[in-house]
Amino acid sequence: MKLFDLTGRVAVVTGGNGGIGLGMARGLAQAGAAVMLAARNVAKSQDAVKALEAAGARAAMVRVDVTSEASCREMIAKTVERFGRLDILVNNAGTNIRKQPQEYTLQEWHTVLETNLTSAFLTSHAAYPAMLRAGGGKIINVGSMMSIFGAPFTAPYAASKGGIVQLTKALATAWAKDNIQVNAVLPGWIDTDLTRKAREQVPGLHDRVVARTPAGRWGTPDEHAGVAVFLASPASAFVTGTAIPVDGGYSVLGV
Ligand code: NDP
Repeated sequence: MKLFDLTGRVAVVTGGNGGIGLGMARGLAQAGAAVMLAARNVAKSQDAVKALEAAGARAAMVRVDVTSEASCREMIAKTVERFGRLDILVNNAGTNIRKQPQEYTLQEWHTVLETNLTSAFLTSHAAYPAMLRAGGGKIINVGSMMSIFGAPFTAPYAASKGGIVQLTKALATAWAKDNIQVNAVLPGWIDTDLTRKAREQVPGLHDRVVARTPAGRWGTPDEHAGVAVFLASPASAFVTGTAIPVDGGYSVLGV
């Protein structure tokens, strides 16, 4: 269907070598986009590229540290160099450090804020000229349930993910005139490396999530493919500044 067709489009996905990022990258590739996976772990990225290529996709990888402005600029430049243009930027790279608020060092605060929030500003800033040249673009920022809620062990993470939603709105209003749509996706509790660590560190988390989620289970990375394709495609041409939960109903459960 043309509405969701990404043939000829080029996407870069930060943190695209695993978890939710790879789930989104698979969706974009299936819809016809060429995808650049961008992350720090080169071997993991190479494996992910091989898996995408085996499924018939055009894919490549670039090493990036999203906390570095120079690295973000290089990521965009290498994507354009490799595939000739840039249409879609997925800001998915993220990290978490779980502690009580009073236990964080300033350095830990900066690590989480820079990886999860400042990174999205840096990559969007770097991508803007290429999107202008392409006649428009799509930016998809990955938030969290912590964009909406709080938890005792998430002070910097919740601050970064709340900030992502507001950054999304600000970029959307600024760049609507340039035919660039900027939206956020708010995953619920998804089974990935990040949350495997959370389940080890937070006693009872697994069962609490199952009990609290109307769908009665954790989500999967591949369940983010559809929303990524929608937000990257002509189907969302008049959708900008929104934050779409992908959470099995977690964020709308009243009692
Ligand atoms: P993963 O740990 O599987 O993915 C995190 C990704 O970010 C990895 O690919 C990692 O690659 C990359 N990354 C981390 N730091 C950097 C950095 N400095 N520079 C470049 N890449 C980096 O976890 P998820 O898939 O769960 O997380 C993906 C996103 O989804 C995050 O933003 C997370 O906050 C968000 N999210 C996840 C939820 C969940 O339940 N799983 C719920 C809500 C939101 P590498 O180590 O190779 O650099």
